[in-house]
Amino acid sequence: MGWLNDDVALVTGANSGIGLAVVRRFLAEGARGVGVLIRNAAQADSMYEEFGDKVVVTVGDVRSPESNAEAVDATVRTFGKLDTLVGNAGVWDHFASLRRYEGSTLKATFEEVFGVNVLGYMLAAHAAAPALRETRGSMIFTLSNASFYAGGGGPVYVASKHAGVGLVKQLAYELAPDIRVNAVAPGGTVTPLKGPQALGRENDRLSDIPGFAETVADAMALGFIARPEDHTGHYVLLASRVNSPATTATVLQSDCGWEIRGRPVRKKAQ
Ligand code: NAP
Repeated sequence: MGWLNDDVALVTGANSGIGLAVVRRFLAEGARGVGVLIRNAAQADSMYEEFGDKVVVTVGDVRSPESNAEAVDATVRTFGKLDTLVGNAGVWDHFASLRRYEGSTLKATFEEVFGVNVLGYMLAAHAAAPALRETRGSMIFTLSNASFYAGGGGPVYVASKHAGVGLVKQLAYELAPDIRVNAVAPGGTVTPLKGPQALGRENDRLSDIPGFAETVADAMALGFIARPEDHTGHYVLLASRVNSPATTATVLQSDCGWEIRGRPVRKKAQ
């Protein structure tokens, strides 16, 4: 018996990184099945190869209302209900600072990054709310250290992740008492998180930046860079009706202590 015995979830951006780790963990916690919304049709086979009939894949863009509706329908049709929405798909701006933008690139980058990171979460919430109301389920969104602090990206990404905090609070307010709405805010994590097409960075991965893992680990109070699976217990806790029935409008930080970044100099024992 796991913490999510017989539950059904829908995870967006589930083919890699944190989303994939959440799917694995939810199933390990006894979930009946997980619907996934991914944008790359070529990844569908590998999802079915790993999870078999425990997943149902919808291929689409999170910026499309139809794709979100289709993913909710496929999940409910296949597994009979929906208990948890995990809004997770995201793009990062590769630290693009304001002064680096020229011409219409800033507007295009804003539209793409906010489209995925903010509108994508809203559309998923809109599509999933009726099914979640029936089960008195919950929503969990993947936010970031960039939801609270500067420096985790450029102004577009950081603003988009700050917007996520407002979205969680407003949805928690509007959807109470039927649906709990919470978030997990990871810090720097080893994943292939990609950049926006508007900046020509759609194939550039966070994990391929030279020295990224070492630099992040060195800046963390806990002295290491997280792996996607290091965050998944928080999603399980927030999804669990038994273990967090009184928790809504909360963001659990899973960022190796970014708030207290840096470490004290340890004096050698005399
Ligand atoms: P990831 O492995 O690249 O996961 C992001 C997922 O979003 C991928 O599956 C990606 O699909 C999908 N995606 C992007 N745009 C999409 C779109 N328009 N429609 C549908 N799916 C789309 O990277 P990750 O780090 O696990 O990212 C997951 C979340 O964690 C994001 O919200 C990110 O902002 C957040 N986060 C990451 C870090 C970090 O350091 N990695 C830190 C804090 C927060 P493709 O695989 O096809 O590109």
